[in-house]
Amino acid sequence: MKVAIFGAGVAGLSAAIDLVDQGHQVEIYEKRKVLGGKVSVWKDSEGDSIESGLHIVFGGYSQLQDYLERVGAASNYQWKDHALVYAESDGRQSSFRKAKLPSPWAEIVGGLQADFLTMWDKISLIRGLLPAIIGNEEYFRSQDSMTYSEWHRLRGASEHSLQKLWRAIALAMNFIEPNVISARPMITIFKYFGTDYTSTKFGFFRKNPGESMIEPMRQYIQSRGGRIFVDAKLSRFELNSDETISRAVLQDGHTIEADAYISALPAHNIKKIFPETWLTHDYFRNIFRFEGSPVANCQLWFDRKITDLDNLMFSQGTIFATFADVSITCPEDFQEGMGSANGGSVMSLVLAPAHDLMDMPNEVITQLVMKDIHDRFPKSRDARLLKSTIVKIPQSVYKAVPDIDQYRPDQITPVKNFFLAGDYTYQRYLASMEGAALSGKQAAEKLMAQMAKQ
Ligand SMILES: Cc1cc2nc3c(=O)[nH]c(=O)nc-3n(C[C@H](O)[C@H](O)[C@H](O)COP(=O)(O)OP(=O)(O)OC[C@H]3O[C@@H](n4cnc5c(N)ncnc54)[C@H](O)[C@@H]3O)c2cc1C
Repeated sequence: MKVAIFGAGVAGLSAAIDLVDQGHQVEIYEKRKVLGGKVSVWKDSEGDSIESGLHIVFGGYSQLQDYLERVGAASNYQWKDHALVYAESDGRQSSFRKAKLPSPWAEIVGGLQADFLTMWDKISLIRGLLPAIIGNEEYFRSQDSMTYSEWHRLRGASEHSLQKLWRAIALAMNFIEPNVISARPMITIFKYFGTDYTSTKFGFFRKNPGESMIEPMRQYIQSRGGRIFVDAKLSRFELNSDETISRAVLQDGHTIEADAYISALPAHNIKKIFPETWLTHDYFRNIFRFEGSPVANCQLWFDRKITDLDNLMFSQGTIFATFADVSITCPEDFQEGMGSANGGSVMSLVLAPAHDLMDMPNEVITQLVMKDIHDRFPKSRDARLLKSTIVKIPQSVYKAVPDIDQYRPDQITPVKNFFLAGDYTYQRYLASMEGAALSGKQAAEKLMAQMAKQ
């Protein structure tokens, strides 16, 4: 079978890995010059790696880890200390460390020891979050009609823990506030967090996600005969009389004919390409309900170390939500002699919520980031900033707002030779690298099963 895949993010590359493994002829068309989509990393003119966003592998990402193993990249990431570390004013840190006990005792004992929660926070959390810990998929789905803040208050959990602990988690997961995000994804992660010790540990790529993950995926696909075209933007589909695709047309006029077609584009891109006749189907119309969260990633190169923490950090009340000193967490990149790095800290910071930042000049954003950096890391007050970069993504992962989950599309579409992959399509994870990997796998498997029947 010849399969054309559009979009070379984690979803498109994952689908391609499964298809080439089954001996199919795969062609990937990517509109940018760089592969990886939201995980893409490129070198700038000074030789520095610029990330679309700081990316963390979670212990529970079993599908992504399986692909990394298959493409020979299993040792390209490393696990960090099992803790949620919050950066506080004047260099103080507080943390939630899981105790070395089986779940749920690891979390209960760890939670009781957390220094940034009051005793009332702890009691209200244990009582309030219990339905999430013992709940099943059906329960999580039934809670999708309210925001997380509503759910939290309804359960009698404390306001302080909402602002201090869970706001940072909502911003890290979906780049939106707890009073905007649906309760469903939040309580789903409480379940994982509260019942599976290993699923919540953080892993960092040894270099960066581009070189440590996307590049091995590219090499694997090409070594099995897959062809990858960059600067190749899908522009439209031409149809047969039964609504199936007869060929795809790229922006430069090239046409592609295949037995089956997979869109691994984000929702906001593919909805521009649907032929009008497809819009009679609810399936396609519902995709217009998805909207991307704006987010920005800021990288700062300092002339000295401003922290010694080898882990992901969270922070509350700052312009950045999650961040890390990648000169420490990623030991094979951002080191002295590589681009602008001189052995000092290289901070990679995810800025969220970012609605107000999209039209703001980068210099102003950098000043706001530096103000908060000076507050959280006193050593930065005497440090020299060698370089700063900002990447803005106006529409990144889909906003997981109340009631949207029911509209996440299956990978099988009403059009017989057309399939969808992408983190927004239906799989058990929220938009994430794992969600994208699962969607790619499901698209490839469903495509092979459906085409075998025809
Ligand atoms: C700042 C940031 C931090 C994040 N941190 C994490 C994290 O720590 N852990 C985690 O698991 N996830 C994280 N994510 C989420 C994760 O990056 C995404 O969920 C995942 O990468 C999405 O993959 P995808 O393949 O579905 O889509 P994308 O990565 O968006 O890939 C879609 C591809 O389609 C291409 N394309 C678009 N239009 C066309 C067209 N017309 N023709 C051809 N190609 C086209 C795009 O260029 C892109 O390459 C983060 C995201 C961001 C933005």
